[in-house]
Amino acid sequence: MPVRATKRGAQRTPLQRDCDVLVCGGSFAGLAVARELSGTGARVLVIDRYEIGERQTSACGIPTCWLEALDLRGSLRQTFDELVVHTPWTTACWQLPWTFSTFDYRELCALLWEQAHPSDAEFETSTVTGRSGNTVHTDRGDLTAPLIIDALGWRRVLSNDTAIQPPNARMSRGLEIHPHGAGEELELWIDPKYVRAGYSWSFPAGDELRVGVGSFWPSHHVKEPTVRLANDLGLPAISYQGNWIPHELRPAVEDGVFFVGDSAGHCLPLTAEGIRTALYFGLACARELRPVLDGHATREDALARYGAFSDSHERKYRWLLNTQRAVGRLTPSRAVTAMARILASERACAWAFNHYLEIAPPSFVGAGSRRPVAPVRIPAPATA
Ligand SMILES: Cc1cc2nc3c(=O)[nH]c(=O)nc-3n(C[C@H](O)[C@H](O)[C@H](O)COP(=O)(O)OP(=O)(O)OC[C@H]3O[C@@H](n4cnc5c(N)ncnc54)[C@H](O)[C@@H]3O)c2cc1C
Repeated sequence: MPVRATKRGAQRTPLQRDCDVLVCGGSFAGLAVARELSGTGARVLVIDRYEIGERQTSACGIPTCWLEALDLRGSLRQTFDELVVHTPWTTACWQLPWTFSTFDYRELCALLWEQAHPSDAEFETSTVTGRSGNTVHTDRGDLTAPLIIDALGWRRVLSNDTAIQPPNARMSRGLEIHPHGAGEELELWIDPKYVRAGYSWSFPAGDELRVGVGSFWPSHHVKEPTVRLANDLGLPAISYQGNWIPHELRPAVEDGVFFVGDSAGHCLPLTAEGIRTALYFGLACARELRPVLDGHATREDALARYGAFSDSHERKYRWLLNTQRAVGRLTPSRAVTAMARILASERACAWAFNHYLEIAPPSFVGAGSRRPVAPVRIPAPATA
């Protein structure tokens, strides 16, 4: 039984603070921003409704090269060099050109936070309820900053636009169980027996399995198929974890706020891989904030540059979304099985997966410098 570390009751003391950068959300996207701001001397405050690493938000699978690039190998649980794909008519083995690993969520978050923390970043648990201009409202009080990041996931809490409401909104949904157990293979099922449009998975992670079902169609429920898959694999359906998964890019900047990770729809369509991209766009966002902190750019410059950076990925996201739709329409059919067989060719698999990795390549980690900058006090811009 996980122990809840989040402060409750009387421990939830009032919190009112001015800071230079307010990072709302302390998971992949938010911690990547904080990590990349370390050494700036800026007053960075990260907030989340839970303690860092307390509440796992995914199956925690990522290309191993990203764990290595970010010096997060310590959290690694298991590494795979092939993906076993089942359709109703075949089982194909895809030899990956790079390895994929599962990791421990709590440990990865702790390592990222260590990289952010030694200098300037602070963390507080609090639940964000809304925003007025440069002030974020939380259950513990108001927090003000000229630079505000929404890394709060699909709800996009800091947007003052109309709220996104699944199942009517365009989102995928995923649910998984985490029973105790061991496995050697990273497996996917593209099989309408479990889900009409989407896929099911089993990700071994040391002494735990992460087994679940994802639907591209928000109106299709995933609990019953997840239980059915667990039964078929002889596993107890325990320790559930699930969420909505945005599969379309949304504006990465809005009304003076930077949106990173799922809040900006950065999770990749088709695969629902959103950890690597949350880290990638988190680093990108922080790199635009650094010149603002050292007085060489304005917040508006950073908003424009980060927004343009996110938009520049639009074509690749659209391509994946179109493929997702095609797979959704074609399942079940021999065409999907034919695709699975084509990717069993080492050459075809290397071509497809290398292009896929390039959407958010690990070389991006080393491309930015985390050199210290001398912070200047940023005047709070007049906001609406
Ligand atoms: C079942 C499932 C399995 C998945 N498996 C994988 C996988 O193996 N690999 C992969 O790459 N992607 C996977 N994904 C997608 C991945 O989980 C997301 O894309 C990724 O977590 C996005 O990171 P993020 O930091 O943007 O948001 P999140 O990880 O969702 O983090 C948001 C943070 O904000 C906090 N928060 C939310 N609302 C508030 C509030 N009001 N106040 C304060 N704090 C708040 C939350 O506590 C959380 O810490 C999976 C998704 C699902 C649903």
